[in-house]
Amino acid sequence: MTEAQLRDNLSRVEERIERARERARRGDAVDIIAVTKTHPIDVVRTALAAGLRKLGENRVLELEGKVQAVGRDAAEWHLIGHLQRNKVKRALPLFDLFHAVDSLRLARELSSEAVKAGVTVRGLAQVNVSGEATKGGFEGELSEIVDQIAEACALPGLEIRGLMTMAPFTEAERVVRGTFARARQLFEQCGNTVEGFVAAHLSMGMSNDYEIAVEEGSTMVRLGTILFGEREP
Ligand SMILES: *Cc1c(COP(=O)(O)O)cnc(C)c1O
Repeated sequence: MTEAQLRDNLSRVEERIERARERARRGDAVDIIAVTKTHPIDVVRTALAAGLRKLGENRVLELEGKVQAVGRDAAEWHLIGHLQRNKVKRALPLFDLFHAVDSLRLARELSSEAVKAGVTVRGLAQVNVSGEATKGGFEGELSEIVDQIAEACALPGLEIRGLMTMAPFTEAERVVRGTFARARQLFEQCGNTVEGFVAAHLSMGMSNDYEIAVEEGSTMVRLGTILFGEREP
């Protein structure tokens, strides 16, 4: 992947995001999280050279290696995948925003390590509103999800700054759109009713569904394949 190819891919994506924003008559911005996971460090350098500043990784060790290689301040680092509780302490200094606070147990661990370290961790509550058993995140009736998120928001050292969700892998646009719309509804409900919830980010949309996500109110799309090509299996 050359810088010129990446710039080309990026401008096509930005154009499509722009059109989706127009269709939805949205005035607010949509951030691109460039998902560099599994790609070598050269790809991270190319992304930075092309002007991408928000980078997404889903494994702590890989994130750590990349942070060491290019520097903690070279990018805004987003940890986007499930985090094991025994990796929380190691992960804390490496990211700016963690997208996958997917249980109260994990929220409590993040909170206690943050308090010990004297920092505030910024996270998004991951919600499973597609009903798929294979997806992680807070689930149940909308009111139950709100109650769990409220508990997470009450923990010290942890700031919940929005929601993250993933749509099912299906060609059925109606199903994908419905999932994103429910996440949006939940985001607004949390913003209106949950003490301490900061309604800053709604992270939804990947390479195959980001335009629908933007139409449904996403403020952060997490894009890998469409920018950098297929990952090695
Ligand atoms: C890998 C990954 C992405 C990016 O997926 P693409 O389909 O390559 O855009 C987005 N979000 C999460 C949580 C991921 O693990």
